[in-house]
Amino acid sequence: MIPGARLVLLGRQGAGKGTQCARLSRHYVVPHISTGDMLRAAVREGTEFGRKAEEYMHAGELLPDDIMVGIVDERLESDDTRTRGFVLDGFPRTVAQAEALLEITSPRGINVVIDLEVPREVVLARLASRRVCNDCGTNYSVDLPPKYDMVCDVCGGDVVQRDDDTEKAIAQRLALYDRETEPLIEWFQGKGLLDVVDGTGHPDDVTDRLVRTIDRRREP
Ligand code: AMP
Repeated sequence: MIPGARLVLLGRQGAGKGTQCARLSRHYVVPHISTGDMLRAAVREGTEFGRKAEEYMHAGELLPDDIMVGIVDERLESDDTRTRGFVLDGFPRTVAQAEALLEITSPRGINVVIDLEVPREVVLARLASRRVCNDCGTNYSVDLPPKYDMVCDVCGGDVVQRDDDTEKAIAQRLALYDRETEPLIEWFQGKGLLDVVDGTGHPDDVTDRLVRTIDRRREP
């Protein structure tokens, strides 16, 4: 059996992070932990927390660090992540979250943090055409839709445009990424944990590049 892995993917929204995290999760047989998906599930459940989260998400703002760290800490406590590992998608997004992550995962730490690099113009075009399954979070696009009209190939859920993929919210999220999350790249570089992977081209080629990079970093 392929040994597990403890991975973090960074990259602008629309860089293909969600798709690649799902693929890496299958390849290394580790849970795909997407904080955005967890929050959207809470919104659908209509809990009080979900309603609060929705306000931030609609405004294109980040939820407070302590809340996000609490959610991820709890998830990383479960048996599957403790034994096999994880691929983190959408977390950390701030230096405070990154500091907390290294503490939470200590002493084993993480194998590698990957910056999935895609130019801004490509990202904008991808976000405008992105469609996503309401139930399992699988990503599609206008150019690569599910086989049957807007019915998810994986789980049969409804494939829709995300509520927060409006032009205004997209512009705000990209600005927020530049301000809050991009500094993380240098921060992780300083810790010797960062690799940059080219996220352009066919998704299969991107996955190959990611796996090669990750395998160089994992312990034998
Ligand atoms: P995503 O699906 O990763 O683009 O996340 C959707 C939205 O959820 C973001 O725009 C934020 O409002 C919120 N969110 C997700 N992850 C985080 C995080 N690590 N810190 C703060 N807010 C988050």
